[in-house]
Amino acid sequence: MSATLLPIRDDDPSIARAISDAHLPSLIAATVQLTGDASLVRGDIKPVYDFFGDGQGALTPEQQGRAREAALAALCRYRDSGQKAPPPGPELVRELMNFVAGAEIPERYLPFLEEELALHGGDVKAAARRAPVPDAARKEFHVLIVGAGMSGILAAIRLKQAGIAYTIIDKNAEVGGTWLENAYPGCRVDNPNHLYSYSFEPNYDWPQHFSTQPVLHAYFRSVAEKYGVRGEVRFGTELVEAVYDERRDLWRAQLRQGGRDEFVEANAIITAVGQLNRPKLPPFRGRESFKGPQFHSARWDHSVALAGKRVAVIGTGASAFQFIPEIAPQVKELIVFQRNAPWLAPTANYHQDVPEGQKWLLKHVPGYAQWYRFWLFWMLTDGIYPAVQADPTWNGTPDAVSAANGQIRDVMRLYIAQQLPDRPDLAEKMTPNYPPGGKRIVRDNGVWLKALSRENVHVVTDPIREIVPDGIVTADGKKHVADVIIYGTGFQASHFLEPMKFKGRGGVDLHEQWNGDARAYLGITVPNFPNLFLMYGPNTNIVVNGSIIFFSECEIRYILGLIELMLEEGASAIEPKQDVHDRFNRKVDAANAGMAWGAPQVTSWYKNEKGRVSQNWPWPLVDYWAATRAPNPADFILRKTQARLARTA
Ligand code: NAP
Repeated sequence: MSATLLPIRDDDPSIARAISDAHLPSLIAATVQLTGDASLVRGDIKPVYDFFGDGQGALTPEQQGRAREAALAALCRYRDSGQKAPPPGPELVRELMNFVAGAEIPERYLPFLEEELALHGGDVKAAARRAPVPDAARKEFHVLIVGAGMSGILAAIRLKQAGIAYTIIDKNAEVGGTWLENAYPGCRVDNPNHLYSYSFEPNYDWPQHFSTQPVLHAYFRSVAEKYGVRGEVRFGTELVEAVYDERRDLWRAQLRQGGRDEFVEANAIITAVGQLNRPKLPPFRGRESFKGPQFHSARWDHSVALAGKRVAVIGTGASAFQFIPEIAPQVKELIVFQRNAPWLAPTANYHQDVPEGQKWLLKHVPGYAQWYRFWLFWMLTDGIYPAVQADPTWNGTPDAVSAANGQIRDVMRLYIAQQLPDRPDLAEKMTPNYPPGGKRIVRDNGVWLKALSRENVHVVTDPIREIVPDGIVTADGKKHVADVIIYGTGFQASHFLEPMKFKGRGGVDLHEQWNGDARAYLGITVPNFPNLFLMYGPNTNIVVNGSIIFFSECEIRYILGLIELMLEEGASAIEPKQDVHDRFNRKVDAANAGMAWGAPQVTSWYKNEKGRVSQNWPWPLVDYWAATRAPNPADFILRKTQARLARTA
């Protein structure tokens, strides 16, 4: 893991070999940057992308050859002379952005994308340290971070960098959160790793484009080690309840470790517990009567040998989608109980290794890693946002929400049908009847339908009536005999922060205030709960556009902004104004109603029991970035007390 550029010592043929593995539009931009000669992007070479294409921008073989030759010449010159052109000016950066993105990038995106691009290096997303806050005030302010997964590790790193003291706890015995707990066979990230990583900790050695759980876990663990966070985590420790002491503006937190309770005080609490942490086990009648082993995908029981067994899997969401192809060849019989099929995004490199040449380019070519991440960012984030926006005038079938959405649906329908020419029965079952983007679209390289077409695999779409000692009975009365049941049934996502309890100002209970419908201002702060900061809180999840690490980085920058604002003002409590919070949530609801996942025909974990989309951010990422760069003091109530600041134990 390193962002430091290595010197080029390779000979010409080795460089040429590496170039053959390049993402060409990114390499072209890096070449222009290196030479200062923009003629390469001002001629006939213009990348054009197809949503499900290979990402190379559909350049002709002749154009590819020309681009490679120019890159080789530039890299050899750079190797021999060490000379680089001066950094590109804003006009050229913009031209290169449009070139790499294959689109005219709107004006309002430019500062946002420039930050993402980070062409000049450095930790550009680190919170700006406000000079007027004396170091003593920072050190005296103490934060309790709950959770040491992706967001909690990040929170600790940023607080440490800002000189703010903290205690970090995690219920598990190791860091990593979701990447520790989800150890089911086949578990891997479905966002390209060169994007799904902290902006300040790029990894140029990802073994695969979409790495597996052990690799992801090792990454988060090593970052936590590198910044000294891992050694600080109080493992095996849960926050049971936190009560706000208004007189002293302190949170009093009840921590439980190994059955022992301890009370600590903190000026602020950051919850970093994820949305997808508590497994959901549907209350099927007779579940307890089942005689064989049964477990949830996030609590995979590796001691249960599946070879030669009759295995029932309930659910075909993102997790089951990954483990079913892994276990299908081992088991005697696999019965898959499906309620709704997932849409599949054809992704040829889903299981492929990152070519060695690509790794070399990332490590050696100035600007290449930045342009490549920029390209991934644009293509996977706001680049596809319009295709999941509902068109209010759309009068087509309910499996789309607009003409653009219908086009994606058609491509994906064809992708399913083409793989199952002899199984129209299975093709029908596996073709979703809701719009693309209604639920998470899963990446596929063909293994899914191949697994489901196996002779030992059966897909059952009749609803489950009950579980009996030796299997599962469906509504049609048929018993499906099974030795093992695996629940791929997802998480209690809309039950934010449960089972922890929070009592805010005036003794208000957070879960009573939410009443099953969690809301927060920008997903981070909640009225009546001063100095309680949520990471990955309500309405900060994304469906199609981007990496959740991006959100966490925005959130922690904003949280630090809030803490520093408080310290700067000599205040001891900050909470959002009720009307600001309410207005924001009304806008969120209206915008979510206009997205594929908000369509009335869609049911998913994005909607809570009240039918409200409580999980997702409805706008482009640029809007979250802009809203969270720094808190607007006018949105908050700041309170000053004379109370002494506390330190936790
Ligand atoms: P999920 O997407 O919520 O899928 C749960 C599955 O169980 C769905 O097929 C659902 O059917 C079914 N189900 C739930 N309750 C049921 C019931 N009572 N009866 C029958 N079927 C039932 O959960 P998940 O697969 O664990 O994934 C959750 C989220 O985790 C994903 O959306 C994604 O954000 C994340 N994830 C990411 C990755 C990755 O990055 N690679 C991998 C895994 C998970 P319906 O669709 O009809 O509700």
